[in-house]
Amino acid sequence: MNIVVQKFGGTSVRNLECQQQVMKKVLRLCREGNKVIVVLSAMSGETNRLLNLASKWSENPDRAELDSMVSTGEQISCALFTMLLKQQGVKARSILGFQAPIITDDAHGKARIISIDDKKLKELLKEYDILVVAGFQGCSENGRITTLGRGGSDTSAVALAAAVNADICEIYTDVSGVFTTDPNICADARKIERVAYDEMLEMASMGAKVLQPRSVEFAKKFNVTVHVRSTFSDEPGTIVTQEDETMESVLVSGIAYDKDQAQITLVHVEDKPGVSAQIFSPFADKKILVDMIIQNPSKDGKTDMTFTIPRDDMELAIKTLESLQYEIGFKELNSNLNVSKISIIGVGMRNHSGVAARAFQALADENINILMISTSEIKVTCLIDDKYTELAVRTLHKAFHLEEGEPIEKS
Ligand code: ADP
Ligand code: ASP
Ligand code: MG
Repeated sequence: MNIVVQKFGGTSVRNLECQQQVMKKVLRLCREGNKVIVVLSAMSGETNRLLNLASKWSENPDRAELDSMVSTGEQISCALFTMLLKQQGVKARSILGFQAPIITDDAHGKARIISIDDKKLKELLKEYDILVVAGFQGCSENGRITTLGRGGSDTSAVALAAAVNADICEIYTDVSGVFTTDPNICADARKIERVAYDEMLEMASMGAKVLQPRSVEFAKKFNVTVHVRSTFSDEPGTIVTQEDETMESVLVSGIAYDKDQAQITLVHVEDKPGVSAQIFSPFADKKILVDMIIQNPSKDGKTDMTFTIPRDDMELAIKTLESLQYEIGFKELNSNLNVSKISIIGVGMRNHSGVAARAFQALADENINILMISTSEIKVTCLIDDKYTELAVRTLHKAFHLEEGEPIEKS
């Protein structure tokens, strides 16, 4: 049995006309003799609408109830889409996370998939030609509805593709593939034909929201080929797969940005063994992802510690740190929500120096101040004032000639 997974994002299912267009793609595949698992997001704007609604009821909504509510967005789009299919006489049914079941841990709002019952799905595929599965949602081991974090339907799709051993996982969206940067803010962005898992993982983790980072982790772990492409055209998109020699040999392959960032500085922390563990262990317990960390040189046994976290976790982080002020012994806590992270990514920079320096110079030429820097083998990241995000992206895109791709030899 040939199984293909097709995932359609929020803009692709936003109204009847779009869903009819989606249906054509799904039916074409089905008529070619494939069994299809369709994974849908909520109609665009719906998840935000539900989150806003909850925030009117409660300043700090109960996370389990929030998941129960926000997951209804996907339930609606799946039921509506399945109605369309059945009207065409297709053997189809909708399936929610708990019905599949897609079992996750109990980290509400950012749950991780633990297992998917492939036997049940394969059994259902004998009876039905198309299964329409709600993205973004799962079910904890103690039977509560969970959600997988923003953009989580990508992860649902890739995890389902891995579970049923699908031939390919197609991710349909509102752009025609993965570009060298967000094509909606940089007109010169260029579509990449093939991209390696590692590079895609860095781009996604650094903010290129075309794929949720965990979906790429899954794809890499289970060797699922992912094809990112447009719902609104038939042109080929971007293949995300293992690194091979047919991939572009360029120094830098993409620029990503992430505005969902916040910076915290703890002033006058005791500079002694164990302090970092005291600060960051409670964050790990609360599943707050700490990214860039800088510790200033010590002066009179005191130091300043600056780090970044996702903006949504700011309140929880501040509460956590304030409750530990006595133990950690910091004098003051400063926070900044107006920051964004810009990253230059490319496996081509593994053995090449000068990439970071060129990026810093390009930002300096535009008078953009760098607040923090971090580097890895295949990326350079700068934290900047978020009002310069778009300018910084375009500047770096130009500085590394991404509109045409700068071959490694040139540098
Ligand atoms: P969907 O609702 O289909 O899941 P998303 O909004 O989550 O769509 O992701 C698609 C968006 O990702 C695009 O509209 C684009 O603005 C953004 N994006 C950011 N970086 C990139 C990139 N490098 N390539 C393509 N799209 C990108
Ligand atoms: N509906 C969810 C969101 O808006 C999940 C998704 O679209 O992937 O984040
Ligand atoms: Mg998305």
